[in-house]
Order: sequence, then structure tokens, then C-alpha cells
Amino acid sequence: MQQLIYIIASVLFIIGLKRLGSAATARQGNFISAVGMALALLATLVDSGFSWGFIIAGIVVGGAIGAVSAKRVAMTGMPEMVALFNGSGGIASVFVGWASAKPGMEIAESIPLYLAVLIGGVTFTGSVVAYLKLSEKIDGKPVMFKGQQPVNIALMALILLFGALFCMSPSGFGDPWLILAILLSFAFGVMVVIPIGGADMPVVIALLNSYSGLAACAAGFIISNTVLIVSGALVGASGIILTGIMCKAMNRSLSNVLFSGFGSATASSGGADVQGEAKPISADDTYYILEAASSVIFVPGYGMAVAQAQHAVKELGALLEENGCEVQFAIHPVAGRMPGHMNVLLAEADVPYEQLVEPDDVNPNMAAADVAIVIGANDVVNPAARTDETSPLWGMPIINVDMAKTCIVLKRSLRPGYAGVENPLFFCENTRMLLGDAKASVQALVSQFKDG
Ligand code: NDP
Repeated sequence: MQQLIYIIASVLFIIGLKRLGSAATARQGNFISAVGMALALLATLVDSGFSWGFIIAGIVVGGAIGAVSAKRVAMTGMPEMVALFNGSGGIASVFVGWASAKPGMEIAESIPLYLAVLIGGVTFTGSVVAYLKLSEKIDGKPVMFKGQQPVNIALMALILLFGALFCMSPSGFGDPWLILAILLSFAFGVMVVIPIGGADMPVVIALLNSYSGLAACAAGFIISNTVLIVSGALVGASGIILTGIMCKAMNRSLSNVLFSGFGSATASSGGADVQGEAKPISADDTYYILEAASSVIFVPGYGMAVAQAQHAVKELGALLEENGCEVQFAIHPVAGRMPGHMNVLLAEADVPYEQLVEPDDVNPNMAAADVAIVIGANDVVNPAARTDETSPLWGMPIINVDMAKTCIVLKRSLRPGYAGVENPLFFCENTRMLLGDAKASVQALVSQFKDG
């Protein structure tokens, strides 16, 4: 009966994952997966032989921490929270693996155990470093030092050696080789993520997500839990696919992201000097331009999340439509601070899914758009990625807002975005800067429309 329920849960996960692939069915997909998880939990818990006191204490403590932090987290803090979730998955696999170590285990058991603690350990500390970088508790710049690669290779070699020694003659929970392998995997996690710069974090988050799945999958083999194996494999595989999508969105290869120590570009780290005079515009004048426009493309970015402007933006979009204008929202895959960040915000504000478009679909029509209105985006609309070979963003596919007839940029200053790269867009002939908090600016435009 338990195995049957596990199969049903696995099927629900797969259907849920498939439905998460489109904004229109994503909520349903999430619900279906949650039902699968509830079934899997129930089927596991009705199994006898548990120490119920510990299980209930774990549910209460873990559930309380999860509920309180989810309730408290600001929308802008979501990416950090996702990083911590990945880390929690990793450390859970370390504990499951470590606690399952028994003297004289079969090699078929000790290898998955070793893999669970190794991948789980790397995921845990790697996610903590990603969290610290994303929350700016430590500097987002890549940390590189001489001899870094040889140190990493030596670390990996030691982890493999200790793993082999453990697997050959496991002596249980206190096995010194296992404990050393766990400690070194923690160190390796730190070493893997410190050379990766802040702007490459989307790739890191996706990759760590995948690792947490692989660690869970290995843990599933240790405790012979089919549904953990399946769900871990699904997370591992979908995380790798997401990693590929994020790399493509930044025009980088995975090895380049992992080993080049680039991606926290600061203003001084490359790119031609950007000079010129930005032309400010008032909300009144912006209203006149929008009022006369017959096609408007919104391009949201991290600043929309900071300002929590999504509801006002949705309202402005609806007013423009009422005014006979065609409205689209162009979403860049790395806009914001986590994969899907903009989709989440716009879904929260009930922006119609059919208005969301991807860069590849919107760019060919950009020249025909009357207005591109940038809401707190910066790196994802930086034309230097297309025009300046020396720019750290060179080659990254961007949303070509500079090609629209008029481009209006809503942000508070001319400061650069996350990658720290100056943006020549602000000085283009057809660009106007509507400076100020994005929510206040959009609300001002909404009032103008309402007042006619
Ligand atoms: P950016 O970080 O490039 O720019 C955001 C802009 O928003 C800033 O320049 C800031 O300008 C503006 N802003 C901030 N607060 C407000 C506000 N209240 N009102 C108006 N504007 C505001 O964002 P993008 O979305 O364009 O690019 C995302 C960047 O983050 C990329 O470099 C990406 O690689 C990186 N990243 C993405 C992750 C992901 O998974 N999506 C994860 C980690 C990093 P000002 O201060 O002048 O207002």
C-alpha cells in the first residue's frame, strides 16, 4: 500500500512539475505537487517503528521556523530565503546519511551514503555563502586567490580518498573518514561559491537547487525510500535544466560561470566609459506620451520588487488598455534576484498571462513599439551587452528597450544595477528618466489617467 501511494505521489510530482512550466497552470501545478507531498508524508508516517516524540517535535520546531520566516520575509528577501531552503535540503541529507552509517555496511549502501553527505555538505555551505552574498552580508565580489584551483583539486582528491576509505570498511556513525569527508565537503562548498560573483548568482541558485535534489535522491537510496529517490531526481534534473536556461540568459557557459571568477563586475571592472547627459522627464509629460501611445512594453526589474510597484503597474497597464493601447510585459529570465522573480510579482498582481512575453519574442517587434517603460530594471536592459565588447555584460541577451521609439526609465538615480556596470541607455537620444521611487512614479501616472 505504501509503495502504491509513493507511485501515486511521484506521478503527482511529475504532473505538478509539468504544470509549473506555464504561468497559466502554475498554481494548479503547485497544488498538485503539494497533494503529492502530503500523500508521501502520510504514507511514510503511518509506517510503524518511529519515535513519534522526535517526529512531532521536528514538525513543530521546523514548521514554526518555516511559517514564521515565510510570513516575515519581504518579497525582496525571497531569493535569500530560496538559498536557505536549498541549504536546509543539503544539511538534511547530510544528517540522514550520517545517521544511517552502520559498521560493516554493504558497499551498495555506503556509496549512496557517502554521496548524500558529500553533495549535501557542498550544497549546505555553498547555499549559506550564496545567502550571505545575496543579502549583502558579505561582499558579492568573486574571491580569488593564487593557487585556488590546485587547492580545490587537492580538496576534491582528499574528499574522494576519505570517501573510498570509508566505503571500504565503514565503522559507523563515528567513522573518522566519514567525519573528515563531511567536514571537507563543507569547506568545498565554500570554495566552490566564493569565486562566483554576485551577478552570476542566478546560475548558482539554480545549480545549488539541483544539488539539493541529487543529495536527497542519494539519501532516498540509503533509507530505501522510493518517493525520496524520485522527488530528489526530479529536483536534480529540473535544477540542471534551470541552470542551463539561466546560463543561456546570461550568454555564459557553466564552466565559465563556475571557474572564471567573473560576474561581480564593479564599475571599474571593465566596459567603456559611459558619458552623456540624461534627460529627466516629469510624471505629467510621461502621461502625455503614454496617453498618445498605441503600443507600450513594460520591462520590470529588481527595482519593481524593491518598490513593490507590481499592483500599481498592473493598474497602469489596465488603464492603458482601456485607452486603446496594446500592452505587453517583457520578462527577462534573470531580472530580479531569483529565477522567476518577475513572474511571481506580476502573478501576485493578477497581470493577465497572455500579456507576458519573453525577450526573444519581444525584441523583433521592439522598433515598432511606441514606448518601452522600464520599471526598476537596469542590467537586463543595458545595451552595452550588445555594443561594448569590453563590457562585463558583453554577449548577455538583453531586452532591447533602446530600440523602441521612446524609452522611459523609472528608477531613483543613475546608479548602476547589480552587476555594477554603467548603463549607456540612460543617455540615449530617445530615453527619458522618470526619477523617483517606482511605485510613487507609477501611482502618479495612474492618477493622471484617472483624472483624464
Ligand atoms: P538591477 O539590479 O540591474 O537594477 C535594479 C535597479 O532598480 C537599480 O539600478 C536601482 O536603481 C533600481 N531600484 C531599486 N529600488 C528602486 C525603487 N524603489 N524604485 C525604483 N527603482 C529602484 O536589476 P535587473 O532586474 O535589471 O537585473 C537583475 C540583476 O541581478 C542581474 O545582474 C542579474 O544577474 C542579477 N541577479 C539575478 C538573480 C536572478 O535569479 N534573477 C539572482 C542574483 C542576481 P536606483 O538605485 O537608481 O533606484
